Amino acid sequence: MNPINSTIVNFVKILPKPAVYIFAKKYIAGEKLEDGVRVVKELNSKGILATMDVLGEAVTTKKESVDAKNECLLVLETIQKNNLNSNLSLKPTQLGLAIDEEFCYNQMVEIVERAKSYNNFVRIDMEDSPFTDATINLFKRLKEKYDNVGIVVQAYLKRTLDDVKKLNKLGTNYRLCKGIYIEPEEISYKDYQKVRDNYLDILRQMFTDGNYVGIATHDDYLVENAYKMIKEMNIPKDKFEFQMLYGVKENLRDRINADGYKIRIYVPFGEHWYKYSIRRLQENPNIAWYITKSIFSF
Ligand code: FAD
Repeated sequence: MNPINSTIVNFVKILPKPAVYIFAKKYIAGEKLEDGVRVVKELNSKGILATMDVLGEAVTTKKESVDAKNECLLVLETIQKNNLNSNLSLKPTQLGLAIDEEFCYNQMVEIVERAKSYNNFVRIDMEDSPFTDATINLFKRLKEKYDNVGIVVQAYLKRTLDDVKKLNKLGTNYRLCKGIYIEPEEISYKDYQKVRDNYLDILRQMFTDGNYVGIATHDDYLVENAYKMIKEMNIPKDKFEFQMLYGVKENLRDRINADGYKIRIYVPFGEHWYKYSIRRLQENPNIAWYITKSIFSF
């Protein structure tokens, strides 16, 4: 981020929450489960799939993480009852990873088992680097017992290609993204094109070894190059899907859908929208600038 954008983002961070909500609304379905259901129904009616996410992360008590797990179970039940075409995304630190890894694993087992009983699928989001090893470890343990679980990997991390070479041996279902957290230079690529190049190298490795990939990006360059790779490598349609975030680049979403490729939208909802929204803001400081201007032009 350039210094001006970073100043704008820092400014927005000190704004009162109701002001930030003006911007957040674009990226979240709403504060309630029914908001998530409404958005998923709209997407499904256009032939677009979803993954629902109960907003929240980095909880500090077991009680909070049990509450989060119960909400996840309710989401799975609601997906089933409403016949929605959606799976579920989970943040490990919301389920207690920073408190106790074993406790978090047991919470995840409950969720993955419930999803399995509904013939549904659970995706483990990847958070910041202090949790990378533990998240991969959780995934591997779950994968030994269940086939309805997948993981996210981040192309900005230098370690990811090696991780993927190992995880490919398990026949992993991936979401591949660039990565959104601010990571130290020693472990992450900072150059924009280097992250893209690594993304494509990792994608090729995943396809070469026959894995399923959720190609998660709004970057036209990556979408174009993924299209080319899919054609060149003759990858069947049941081995990949595209994924995008709710509220971002709907034109690209509709184009991918019209091209006949599977596309899934990440639909976050819930009361704990603040941290998620600040991260989206860091990606798109133009919106921060817009909020700042609109606040001062009253
Ligand atoms: P960018 O270069 O950031 O964006 C390409 C273009 O898209 C930009 O030029 C801009 O025009 C547009 N754009 C991007 N973001 C926005 C925005 N917020 N508002 C408006 N326009 C925007 N990261 C993780 O670290 N862990 C995860 O588990 C994770 N899960 C994800 C799940 C999905 C489905 C997606 C799509 C992303 C996820 N991410 C996750 C975020 C990801 O790592 C990137 O930070 C994010 O997708 C932006 O990267 P990009 O590939 O779109 O490229």
